[in-house]
Amino acid sequence: MNRQDFPILQEPVYGRRMVYLDNAATSQKPKAVLDALLYGYTHFNANIHRGVHHLAQVATQHHEEARQAVASFLHARSPREIVFTKGTTDALNMLAFSFGEAFVREGDEIVVSALEHHSNIVPWQMLCERKQAVLRVIPLQDDLTLDLEAFARLLNGRTRIVSVAHVSNVLGIVNPVQDIIRMAHERGIPVCLDAAQAAPHLPLNVQALDCDFLALSAHKMYGPTGIGVLYGKEHWLEQLPPAQGGGEMIEHVSFEKTTYNTLPYKFEAGTPDFIGSYAFAAALAYMQTIGMERIAEHEADLTCYAEQQLAALPQVHIYAAGQPKAGVLSFNVGQIHPYDLGMLLDRQGVGVRTGHHCAEPLITHLGVPGTVRASFGLYNDREDIDLFMAALRKAVAMLA
Ligand code: PLP
Repeated sequence: MNRQDFPILQEPVYGRRMVYLDNAATSQKPKAVLDALLYGYTHFNANIHRGVHHLAQVATQHHEEARQAVASFLHARSPREIVFTKGTTDALNMLAFSFGEAFVREGDEIVVSALEHHSNIVPWQMLCERKQAVLRVIPLQDDLTLDLEAFARLLNGRTRIVSVAHVSNVLGIVNPVQDIIRMAHERGIPVCLDAAQAAPHLPLNVQALDCDFLALSAHKMYGPTGIGVLYGKEHWLEQLPPAQGGGEMIEHVSFEKTTYNTLPYKFEAGTPDFIGSYAFAAALAYMQTIGMERIAEHEADLTCYAEQQLAALPQVHIYAAGQPKAGVLSFNVGQIHPYDLGMLLDRQGVGVRTGHHCAEPLITHLGVPGTVRASFGLYNDREDIDLFMAALRKAVAMLA
């Protein structure tokens, strides 16, 4: 789908068609996004918000329109709920710090799940160390889905927040986030969704989901690197202190007392990536022109096709086999080290990721040194899967 819009995909790898299946790590950029980056630096490069001159006003307008574009994409109530960050990691760190300062005390509890990316574990762990709070973990069932009965038992009067991945970056599983949010809300506990892997693949509606916070990265959504979003319900963001001090986030500064800016600026210290936000808006427009439902359907079809092909290969172990997945598939073949498979696939023009995928606790739970992960984007097609499978058969034959 739309492969021709992505210049990098036209470049051969080792003289072969590039089969790029590492979209969970980062996605390639369509020409519309590359053009937007060049257009920004060529036509309106000026620091935003502070300038009275023409360029500064144009840059400010584009940045605020980008914020509105994100709000529309997520179906947020207001652009005030959209904080630009450097990415998901930055958003989760910011939230863990601010939320921790406002609401977490000694003995309180934070809940994450057993399949989180490190960026939805470590910031909460750091908070727990700082505040002598306790990190609780939703365990997995045998089929690698989250154990919601155990989750219900974890929630108690000391639970301050629940933070879980919407889609697992290793397994591709779509977690039952609506159940999780409902169960937490019944006890008055807010929920943060790590949507780094959901946002590129699924239509998202923060009002329908009713999540309290959500984090995402533009670079996984066909946008530029270095920019992402922390969404927060306005009433929550209002209650949180800024995570960083500096320019932009203040109302007045004196040596005696500083007062902070309104939302969302109180969380945006320093010069934001205003060219990045413009290019991110171009990426969102690109996805919306195709349609998120269509993207989701296309990728679900590809994931299903790839899983069927893989399952037919002897000695393949697919993790969370048979579970509905959003564009991500992890597997191993017999005792072959995933790294060796990855190397041999690469030599045939197929880019996959191998290793722990920044989710070491999950990989430890699976009892393997790592997995091979193929992850799909809107530009992948069945030809990519066929080339991947042919390369995999060859690699296995060489290593077995
Ligand atoms: N959360 C999940 C589920 C991810 O897959 C990733 C990146 O792979 C991240 C968080 C971190 O994203 P970033 O490195 O863009 O901050």
